[in-house]
Amino acid sequence: MRFTKIYCLLALSLFSLFSLKAQDDYLLKADRVFDGFESHADWVVAVKGNKITYAGASYKGKATETITLKGKTLLPGLIEGHSHILLHPYNEVSWNDQVLRESVAERSARAVNHLRASLMAGITTMRDLGSEGAGYADIGLKQAVEKGVVPGPRLLVAGKAIVATGSYGPKGFHEGVEVPLGAETADGFDDLIRVTRDQIGHGADFIKVYADYRWGPNGTAEATFTVAELKTIVEIAESSGRYVVAHASSQEGMRRAIEAGVETIEHGDDATLEIFNLMKVKGIALCPTVAAGDAITQYGGWKKGIDPTPARILAKQENFKMALASGVKIVFGGDVGVFTHGDNVRELELMVEYGMNTKAALISATSANAAQFHLNTLGQLKEGFLADIIAVEGDPSKEISALRKVGLVMKDGKIYKKD
Ligand SMILES: [Zn+2]
Repeated sequence: MRFTKIYCLLALSLFSLFSLKAQDDYLLKADRVFDGFESHADWVVAVKGNKITYAGASYKGKATETITLKGKTLLPGLIEGHSHILLHPYNEVSWNDQVLRESVAERSARAVNHLRASLMAGITTMRDLGSEGAGYADIGLKQAVEKGVVPGPRLLVAGKAIVATGSYGPKGFHEGVEVPLGAETADGFDDLIRVTRDQIGHGADFIKVYADYRWGPNGTAEATFTVAELKTIVEIAESSGRYVVAHASSQEGMRRAIEAGVETIEHGDDATLEIFNLMKVKGIALCPTVAAGDAITQYGGWKKGIDPTPARILAKQENFKMALASGVKIVFGGDVGVFTHGDNVRELELMVEYGMNTKAALISATSANAAQFHLNTLGQLKEGFLADIIAVEGDPSKEISALRKVGLVMKDGKIYKKD
């Protein structure tokens, strides 16, 4: 009799242990689910720990907490492709003065605010394209986020980035004055090999190189490194399992970067259709950063919606349309930092305004950026993927500005925002 009772208790506790194990932490229900590719009307998403355990229409499990998000769309956390967490808008303080007059401590303090604002805006992953003179502060910030010291997106960081001697700013000082530069200089094979390895050693997730810069006779963008130099950087980075991204606006800078084998080209303003076609063939993506040009032109006095559209903006619109026509892969990345952190959607709105299909823009900000940045378990709402999930008011696959109304932010299974 006693033994039967003990067996019964044992069986009961084992049963509850198993059912507890099978139980999900959250069941998320919204009007629709955008899984990174398509919208689904009757899907739900379940989360346990930091993973998605279910995304589909026939959930059979049990969850500790059910969150119903009426009128909202669930989608993967957004992946920003080109940020500068250590910069703030140039109409507040010019780039030169940020690099020259703000301490790394001040810039890092600002970055903590930027990280929080980004996460609350639904950016759960961010590829940060250089500390712009703040050394390896980006790597320290990444570690602080990972340790839970401050809230922020998952970060992929470049560290200092590489520029050719004489090409990068701040400039215009007496030769006796030593000024901090916005990136690390290196030239020639030995130096480039050492600096690339050093940046990797300090924790760079990828290498950023300036394949051109505005150092031409009249401030025009001209190529910096030779093809052989760029190839050296790519070879060293790739042998460590990392990739290279290139800042390039000029045709020659882009051509050299393409030949060297970089994975993304940032800006690409003066590209031709032939260059975009070449990128497509080689699988190199374009990060057009349209919002940066839009912001800088407005800082320069353009009253958008009142004044006629300036030539620079018209040219960028044509450039973007050409990129779309070529079929080159387009990365969502606005050069945020030039404009306000947390206002990342501005880039997506402009991409749509300049002719991109709304759904394609949404794919770019989720599954496509994840694939481009080698993030194999992010950018999709799919069983086994990491639980980086947001909910927004309305349907962003129809109206991209819906992304501005973020009602839920979950990163790594933890809720950071819930309206
Ligand atoms: Zn940038």
